Amino acid sequence: MQAILEALRISGINHGISTGLASWEGQGEELSSFSPVDGQLIGKVRAASREDYDTVVGQAQEAFKTWRLVPAPKRGDIVRQMGDQLRKYKTELGTLVSYEMGKSLQEGLGEVQEMIDICDFAVGLSRQLYGLTMHSERPSHRMYEQWHPLGIVGIISAFNFPVAVWSWNSMIAWVCGDVCVWKPSEKTPLTAIACQHIIQEVLKANDVPEGVSGLVVGAREVGEWLSNDERVPLVSATGSTRMGKAVGQAVGARLGRSLLELGGNNAIIISQHADLPLAIPAIVFGAVGTAGQRCTSTRRLIIHESIYEDVKQRLIKAYGQLRIGNPLEADVHVGPLIDTSAVKSYQTAVNEVRIAGGTFAVEPAVLTGEAFASGCYVQPCVAEVENHWPIVQYETFAPILYLLKYHTIEEAISLQNAVPQGLSSAIFTLNLRESELFLSQAGSDCGIANVNIGTSGAEIGGAFGGEKETGGGRESGSDAWRAYMRRQTNTINYGTTLPLAQGIKFEL
Ligand code: NAD
Repeated sequence: MQAILEALRISGINHGISTGLASWEGQGEELSSFSPVDGQLIGKVRAASREDYDTVVGQAQEAFKTWRLVPAPKRGDIVRQMGDQLRKYKTELGTLVSYEMGKSLQEGLGEVQEMIDICDFAVGLSRQLYGLTMHSERPSHRMYEQWHPLGIVGIISAFNFPVAVWSWNSMIAWVCGDVCVWKPSEKTPLTAIACQHIIQEVLKANDVPEGVSGLVVGAREVGEWLSNDERVPLVSATGSTRMGKAVGQAVGARLGRSLLELGGNNAIIISQHADLPLAIPAIVFGAVGTAGQRCTSTRRLIIHESIYEDVKQRLIKAYGQLRIGNPLEADVHVGPLIDTSAVKSYQTAVNEVRIAGGTFAVEPAVLTGEAFASGCYVQPCVAEVENHWPIVQYETFAPILYLLKYHTIEEAISLQNAVPQGLSSAIFTLNLRESELFLSQAGSDCGIANVNIGTSGAEIGGAFGGEKETGGGRESGSDAWRAYMRRQTNTINYGTTLPLAQGIKFEL
């Protein structure tokens, strides 16, 4: 609890209402943040009004004029200091993430570690924003490309990774020379305010304008302002497919750029050649970790018919050992869902499974009693279903695992791909042919495809994202930085004649 109080102090949330810096304290509606852990009110903040929003975007525009001129390695050094500051506040921020979002303390701390890691990655990147040089077809000409910052990057984030996803975007955007305006989830405003305080300390110490990091707290409409705002060349949005379609259309209508990180419907194929002692913990962690509220959570298990019963029995046994409760306690496996409306979605999905003819190998339940007083705790469940059922095709953000059976590896891959989403996928097999087929162009159609590890828990070094209704965006590592910059091709003539390309003659 001490760490939570300290985190709230960092957030400036001392007396119920945020006392953060003036530019972060909106004039809009009051937002209350309740913890799903115990149902307690943690704090209240005021959302941004349209006027506040315009002020923050105006500050960002001004800040961009100076920030883009700071050499990239120097920007990297400032991001390095942000990483140091996050190290300093790791326990406080990680605890607040757990308490406000409801994930386990280990995962809350892990999320802050991910922020620190992306800072380190971005520091290295700040010296590696490489462009290519090309050989010109014209004599005495040099041709090359360079990458320039875009301007304002609008970041819309989801509740389930309330701080890490913002840092994936912002740390990379900052070394690229962009400035950021962040619209966090209205379900987790306090962690966002805490992050802004931490970052602003660093900006201030380096005499960098506050507008490099802007925050606009609020609900969907604030995200809509960002999507429709021509001053914002890139909107990076993480959340549901429904939200991504709205954002993509609004940004597309003004020919802006969007980077979309949307829902998943992730499957693991369990081959008859799988190492089951390796597979079972990966499945259970993937399905119940963060109470099934990761975009990469394991939702479908496609099991070879010859081992189906064995896998099912092992899962029943493993689920029987799960400890559900306060996620801040070290030995708890499963914490609460984010709020009671998420519990309703879980119940709706369970009903739809039953109506479609599904049965439960591990029965669902909404948990009651003193320890579950927030009303947000549910029993992770396992259902036997068919892939084509509408409920199986849909991402329910809760710990419901669907079991499916297959006969041939080709059939398994086709089932794995037969959903609208394309984020994460995995196969457990010790058979080389199967794993290579799964990873080939005829294999998984997802942005992430793993062998002998589960679907959830990506590292920041790779490009993260998925295909189809997952939105096609890539964030974090590899060359994902290119999305935050504009490419310019430059040709320089250092000769005394003016040869035209393609041998065209134009004589005066
Ligand atoms: P959500 O779509 O309800 O909200 C996400 C954010 O979008 C919030 O900040 C919300 O205010 C905003 N928003 C909602 N409608 C909007 C609109 N029309 N225009 C602009 N902004 C709008 O999602 P959620 O419940 O917070 O998060 C869960 C979802 O996020 C799941 O579908 C999950 O798979 C997805 N997710 C995806 C990734 C990924 O990287 N692919 C990562 C985390 C979460």
